[in-house]
Amino acid sequence: MAQEFATEGLVLRRWQSGEADKRVSVLTPDRGRLSLQVRGTQKAKTRMGMLSEPLNQIRFRVVEGKARRLMVQPELVRSFVAVRADLERLSGALALCELVDRWLASEQPEPDAYHMVLNALNALERGDSLACVLGWTVWRLLSLLGYCPDLRSCSACGSALGESDTVWLNLSGEGALHCVRCGASGSDWVALTKAQYQRLCEWVQAEPPPPLSAGAAAEEEAERLARWGIRYAESVLDSSVGWLDFWARLSALRENG
Ligand SMILES: [Zn+2]
Repeated sequence: MAQEFATEGLVLRRWQSGEADKRVSVLTPDRGRLSLQVRGTQKAKTRMGMLSEPLNQIRFRVVEGKARRLMVQPELVRSFVAVRADLERLSGALALCELVDRWLASEQPEPDAYHMVLNALNALERGDSLACVLGWTVWRLLSLLGYCPDLRSCSACGSALGESDTVWLNLSGEGALHCVRCGASGSDWVALTKAQYQRLCEWVQAEPPPPLSAGAAAEEEAERLARWGIRYAESVLDSSVGWLDFWARLSALRENG
């Protein structure tokens, strides 16, 4: 007899599977990221088709068959309507789901990561800075997965980095940080101002994402930290998420109004 269980989750991705069916990748708090089959999505506007869209938080049941797992009886918890209504936010939210889908191992419960993603979407829903939310997501997720470098002390001399006016960060995946006296050279190193370093320390620990003070300069700074985080993450996680493409697309979107 087929086994069944009930759970909730956030739909990260959906793709075609065979003629009439689709598959979804769903992040759940208790069972990690699941890949499930959904039926009857072929006709437009079926209930299953609408509820299994990416960015929906849903409750559902899973029927475990011999060869596959089927999602049944979905019920909507939340659909993040404000995010969907804004092209820039929607692109950011979908990129965030793509990142989580690629970075989290399948079927390994990561309840903290589940709540982190929902916190990020909540922040986008209420209108927080996109650059800040994405930057926070990248660094916070690295921290939750155990890949964040030790931000407290210089990896060369051991001095406390909070005292340093400039902090050097290695983006090649070595996880090295240097104080201003030890310095660094080469294209893998970037220099963080004291303010950038403090924001990074705040992002790694804060939950939910801290609001960004208004202004183009703060926005630009958050975007720079987000890009560095993505470069670093792509080298440590050995997984190209296409985020640098995402930023290029987003910039094009902004320029075209
Ligand atoms: Zn040092």
